[in-house]
Amino acid sequence: MGDDGTHIPEETLDPKDWEEIRELGHRMVDDMLDYLRDARGRPVWRRLPDDVAARLSGPVPKEGLPPKEVYEEFRENILPYPIGNIHPRFWGWVFGTGTVAGALAGLLADTMDTNGSGIDFHAAAHAEHQVVGWCKEMLGYPAGAGGVLTSGCSGANLIGLAVARNAKAAAAGYDVRRNGLAAAPGHMVLYASDEIHSSIQKAVELLGLGGDALRRVPTNGRYQMDIAALAVAVAQDRAAGLLPFCVVGEAGTTNTGSIDDLQALADLCRQEDLWFHVDGAFGAWAALAPQARHLLAGMERADSLACDLHKWMYLPYGIGLALVRDVEWQQRTFSLTPAYLAHGDGGRGLAGGDLPWLCDLTFELSIGFRSLRAWMSLKEHGADKFGRVIQQNIDQAAYLAGLVEAEPQLELVAPAMLNVVNFRFLPADRSQIDDLNRRLVVELQEQGVVVTSGTVLRGSYAIHVANTNHRSRREDFDLLVGEVVRLGRKLAT
Ligand SMILES: *Cc1c(COP(=O)(O)O)cnc(C)c1O
Repeated sequence: MGDDGTHIPEETLDPKDWEEIRELGHRMVDDMLDYLRDARGRPVWRRLPDDVAARLSGPVPKEGLPPKEVYEEFRENILPYPIGNIHPRFWGWVFGTGTVAGALAGLLADTMDTNGSGIDFHAAAHAEHQVVGWCKEMLGYPAGAGGVLTSGCSGANLIGLAVARNAKAAAAGYDVRRNGLAAAPGHMVLYASDEIHSSIQKAVELLGLGGDALRRVPTNGRYQMDIAALAVAVAQDRAAGLLPFCVVGEAGTTNTGSIDDLQALADLCRQEDLWFHVDGAFGAWAALAPQARHLLAGMERADSLACDLHKWMYLPYGIGLALVRDVEWQQRTFSLTPAYLAHGDGGRGLAGGDLPWLCDLTFELSIGFRSLRAWMSLKEHGADKFGRVIQQNIDQAAYLAGLVEAEPQLELVAPAMLNVVNFRFLPADRSQIDDLNRRLVVELQEQGVVVTSGTVLRGSYAIHVANTNHRSRREDFDLLVGEVVRLGRKLAT
């Protein structure tokens, strides 16, 4: 109502002029497809200029701008300055490359704007369950397991370890959900290798177990957990009155791509009555690669398995997956149904069906339609093609390792495993080896021709290449090696 009691027309966030926005939307789609098609022709990365950074700060706009102007600002200030992971010569950290189908699916999913969490009689919930089912099938994990898509593998690790904690606490006679860890008859501890990902420690901290509860077991020459040392650690902790409850195996460590001996870990967990969780963030997907899947033998025996689809399944960020063998324990960990979320009664209406609600399997309630990216990408390419491209990445990594070994001024810092290669430039003055390689990684990034990251292995700095890039070709690795040698020589003088 206006002051004089007259009716003021309602506002909406929909466009005033649908034809104008349609034209702009078409242009956006054209621009984005060009952007993906032409990725190879741009620098991998370039620094965000200070004046652009300055434009990306400041207060909230009070008044709106025409959509065209907003898009122009995006094109000018945001689009030209990406991290670079969609580029064929980006291999830093472990980044995904995205798929075109995934990008377009993002538009479709956001248009429908469904919340896949619950409510059964709509298609997105079924598509999500279908995608989780496909993942179980591709990973060789039991079809009856519980599963939910997450924002990434950090969330998936948190879910797996939360169920592990609650299930094993119950086996020891107390109820963590009700009474918290204070009620535990002993300090709960778990085990992982010293190459474990930081998200495992974060999960342990968030679950109230305390970072010290995570025992770091030494690794062997292939960066796999030392099983004998693990057995000793469990026995010592038991003797000291602690409560060992879980072992975390890595299927593909971030540093080296190493895969723990998952069969041996599964055997030990069965013997010792421990929960077996596998962090397979990217490495789990080697299950699709014909010549690598044997490395993952035993993964299917895990009580819980965490991975993501935005690294080595190449989907746009962020999509991960948590699988739990015993779906009942997953539900007992997360299910909480207030009156306003009651469901599964009567078979009619939006909430009347008996499809499990995803919010009963995770700590989140609202869940966007992220599964559509996987659904469309897998429909378009098929699982076999994903397997071939993953195998191609592994073969390219072996090719790169061969180039390194053939070049007298380079050496491998760790055995090349899976899709990861760690190597370094050898300056004549060996005392500057770490410092020089550290500078090399930075200078390569600044140059924008290739991007790697760096890491430290057994005290030695290494140039770190993790190949989860479906756009790379062999010649890109030739270029990488050529640039490392050229720049290394230059920096060494
Ligand atoms: C990236 C990664 C994670 C964390 O996954 P996010 O999707 O980044 O949350 C966990 N474990 C390993 C081995 C990883 O490489």
